Amino acid sequence: MSHDGPQTVQRAMAPTTRNGTMRGEPGAEAAAATNGGVAAAAAAKSPSRRRQPQPQHHEFEFFGPYLGPLCIMLGLPAVCYALVYACNGSGCMHLAPRFSIPGFPPAQRLFSWEALAVYCAWFAAQVALHLALPGKRRQGVVLPDGRRLTYKLNGLQNMVISLGAALFLGFWRRSLDLGWVYDNYVPLLTASVLFSSGLSLYLYISSHAKGALLAHGGNTGYRIYDFFIGRELNPRIGSFDLKEFCELYPGLIGWVLIDLAMAHKQWTSSGSVSTGMLLVCAFHVLYVLDALWFEPAILTTMDITTDGFGFMLAFGDLAWVPFTYSLQARVLVDHATPLSTAAVAAIIALKCFGYLVFRGANSQKDLFRRDATHPRVAGLRTLPTERGTRLIVSGWWGIARHINYTGDWLMGLSWCLPTGFQSIVPYFYAIYFLCLLLHRDRRDDAACRIKYGKDWDKFCGIVKYRMFPLIY
Ligand code: NDP
Repeated sequence: MSHDGPQTVQRAMAPTTRNGTMRGEPGAEAAAATNGGVAAAAAAKSPSRRRQPQPQHHEFEFFGPYLGPLCIMLGLPAVCYALVYACNGSGCMHLAPRFSIPGFPPAQRLFSWEALAVYCAWFAAQVALHLALPGKRRQGVVLPDGRRLTYKLNGLQNMVISLGAALFLGFWRRSLDLGWVYDNYVPLLTASVLFSSGLSLYLYISSHAKGALLAHGGNTGYRIYDFFIGRELNPRIGSFDLKEFCELYPGLIGWVLIDLAMAHKQWTSSGSVSTGMLLVCAFHVLYVLDALWFEPAILTTMDITTDGFGFMLAFGDLAWVPFTYSLQARVLVDHATPLSTAAVAAIIALKCFGYLVFRGANSQKDLFRRDATHPRVAGLRTLPTERGTRLIVSGWWGIARHINYTGDWLMGLSWCLPTGFQSIVPYFYAIYFLCLLLHRDRRDDAACRIKYGKDWDKFCGIVKYRMFPLIY
């Protein structure tokens, strides 16, 4: 994938954990396809090439080295607060017939030491679980300096224990007031913004240590820009990989924990948990479970192989994901809409259909890239290319060029529908995610045109639609 502007914002705000593609043991197809695999392997063999990538020419993302990154660093936290401002216990924004917006919930402070302490304790608990629990070990791709890092992967165990404890103590024993999260949502959001900013500062400073392997895109020499994009490729404390950990553990698991806390609040304040809330929580839990089940897939994503770890990813992982992706659950605490059986069935059907498409497409490509002779993919029609890797032109990938995005978006839409049609605010995720995927599709298209040249044009002639068959 190429590095153009908004894409990186999108990646930041949407870590690649949902990636679905698992290329654990690259085969011939995968070896050629892996990011920079050939070049990196060559570098590994040639000691003379084992040196830091030096900044040569800069193609700045986000509208230049100063203004864009500064606006984004201020603007994205502002969006998180704006969502609270636009929808909370006092009401939800309406556009028509008369524009109305509730404003900040009066009972909530912007900052509290208690919320900061809770956020830090949550992060520390995730670190402790990750270190203490057993996990499988997987090697990442070959790095530009020829090394391959080993990762400990146990996100699923972390999630089962964290959510299990929350359910047991909050709902079964009733000794933990999970609804506290709802009452302290704004100071907790502030804590996540402060924590991710502090972490970014640490990452920026520590990236200047001798021997740190720097990411090409975040090593321009422009401080604000490098702070934002991320200088060091794989910052670690010992064998503890900060980037992989933050991408998957505290943010993603924190997201579904916030969902459960919202359900708890609804339960304690109204005496029951609404059907819509149950649907939203179940859908989000399934999504995160899927991401952690396929945890090894993250090791071949751009976030891990190419991007530095800076504000963009740190904020995206630790603040944006947990506090904007849980929006529907927060809205439902105060604005639960009754759902008919037919509506529930339709929403579940949409979620299942989206998941079928998302998982089917991602797993098909993954299997094909790992072992094209596997009986499940051996019968697919393919287009041979000069690059050496083949492109699938039947099955899921014959329907549309990014049918996996379509499935993902349909799932996202099914998360919003349980909130009913009272306001547009709970649909933030579906709108934002559609923009993200449409842009990501364009970006991958441009990257594939570079990778495959005229073969890509041939492929586009065979598979005509980008994401939505017969429409787009
Ligand atoms: P893809 O998994 O679609 O990967 C694109 C790459 O796949 C191409 O560059 C190409 O690489 C290969 N490819 C494309 N077409 C074919 C084909 N016909 N046959 C074989 N290989 C092909 O992209 P992403 O990594 O962007 O997305 C992965 C998943 O992550 C998606 O389901 C997406 O929805 C999800 N996602 C979710 C986000 C969220 O916030 N929830 C954010 C971003 C992504 P090559 O040929 O080199 O192998």
